Amino acid sequence: MQQHIEALKDAKACPLWHDPEVMPEVLPSLATDEKCELLIVGGGFTGLWAAMQAKERKPDADIILIEQTFVGDGASGRCGGFLSTSLAHGETNVAHRFSAEADRLQELGTQNMKELLETLDRYNIDARYEKTGVMDVALDPDSAVDMHSEYKQAKANGEDVVWFDKDAVRKQVNSPTFFGGLWHRRGQDGVVDPGRLCWGLKEVLLNQLGVRIFEETRLLGVEPVGKEGMRANCEGGVIHSEKILLATNAFTSSIKKIRRSVIPVWDYQIATEPLTGEQLEKIGWGQSRHALGDYSNMFHYFRMTKDNRITYGGGAAVRYYFNRGIDEKFAEAPDLYEQLAQEFFATFPQLDDVRFSHKWGGIIATSTRFCMVPGVTYDGRLAWSVGYTGHGVGASRFGARIGIELLGYQPSDILEMQFVTAKVLPWAPEPFRWLGVKFTQNALIKADKNGGKRGLWLKFLDMLGLGFTC
Ligand SMILES: Cc1cc2nc3c(=O)[nH]c(=O)nc-3n(C[C@H](O)[C@H](O)[C@H](O)COP(=O)(O)OP(=O)(O)OC[C@H]3O[C@@H](n4cnc5c(N)ncnc54)[C@H](O)[C@@H]3O)c2cc1C
Repeated sequence: MQQHIEALKDAKACPLWHDPEVMPEVLPSLATDEKCELLIVGGGFTGLWAAMQAKERKPDADIILIEQTFVGDGASGRCGGFLSTSLAHGETNVAHRFSAEADRLQELGTQNMKELLETLDRYNIDARYEKTGVMDVALDPDSAVDMHSEYKQAKANGEDVVWFDKDAVRKQVNSPTFFGGLWHRRGQDGVVDPGRLCWGLKEVLLNQLGVRIFEETRLLGVEPVGKEGMRANCEGGVIHSEKILLATNAFTSSIKKIRRSVIPVWDYQIATEPLTGEQLEKIGWGQSRHALGDYSNMFHYFRMTKDNRITYGGGAAVRYYFNRGIDEKFAEAPDLYEQLAQEFFATFPQLDDVRFSHKWGGIIATSTRFCMVPGVTYDGRLAWSVGYTGHGVGASRFGARIGIELLGYQPSDILEMQFVTAKVLPWAPEPFRWLGVKFTQNALIKADKNGGKRGLWLKFLDMLGLGFTC
């Protein structure tokens, strides 16, 4: 049997972060009709942070949070755990779309990160945060040259970046595929265990802040009642509330505007067993522990965990399935896990005795602007914040803030920002959507094989600001 297939043989089809030893029990589902001030739908980071911040702003607010399966079962409990200050998917996207608000977004991102970490401290939530920054690694000499120019530009702009040439980067993390490294320290950027972050927030909301949480409770539809109320039809009962926040990411929404603004893109990951001291020494990564991303269009992201595993995901193993496929069956993707395992061993051939313990997939909510899409309707009674496009661990706390401010919880001047008010281009209907994503993905893979050189289609998309990325 080939090495990568053998190494995957006993991998559990389950997110690494869903560790049964730390996962709390699933709470009872809704069984009767209920009433509250604010109903939050979705038990991922957006929903959890929205409940937290609404309580901070109005401690006596009566809040219910419902989740169709269990808290952390969506993207939040399946992600890579890269915690970034950026609110809009990185500087390039900001420069392209929100250049007039770049400084303000930077300031708000820094404030968001500071408050996020302070909240973890305040409530003693152990999300296994490590301040690692993120290092991009160049996979060929030409990319290393481009990356070095980027480094000089970033340095000139006053950014906190460090350059490693080929020898230096391999001393940080020893891979024969690395030709340069650009370490973005960006303040507090780092990694977390996203599962522990979800369970920690859930515990505080439930036991310290008095938020009522119903799991295994699916929202079926919403409708306004008179001029002041909302009615949410859920499995198990009806919830009457003054306001509703939809924190439902890329899951199919009954609200057309949400449905058209995001598409579900599946992204896959594998995780190794904890590395032994000897294995760690072979790659040297145990010293620096930078979170890594390769410098390409279809980039891999990989990191170490507190117990010295490596999680490895992304690359060309991302998929959009026709007509918004979100069925759990898409998590079974043996060929994609094999592809990832093969790429892992190409990156770290010294780890030829390592085995994978977990493999899993999750849904990224991709918007046409590649960052969050907030919105509000029914005279300020129903709001949403979705579409972080692979960059939502930190940004979702800010998305949650926008969501609750749109519902009237201490609204501030952020609601006037173009970032919040700008109209978002909807995705094209099928089959154009599927064809467009497929075609673009192939063009990106081709560009990566071609030293990053973008073909005509990608140049055209760049012109429109639609060069696809996760
Ligand atoms: C594989 C993967 C890797 C990623 N890696 C990173 C990373 O390293 N760094 C980063 O910043 N971002 C990353 N992301 C993106 C990040 O995880 C998301 O942007 C973020 O978690 C979104 O949080 P959310 O609460 O909006 O959505 P989710 O966590 O998806 O939560 C939405 C919840 O709503 C529930 N729901 C939906 N519909 C209903 C309904 N009708 N009734 C009741 N409940 C409902 C769902 O079950 C789900 O739990 C990654 C995503 C994936 C999938």
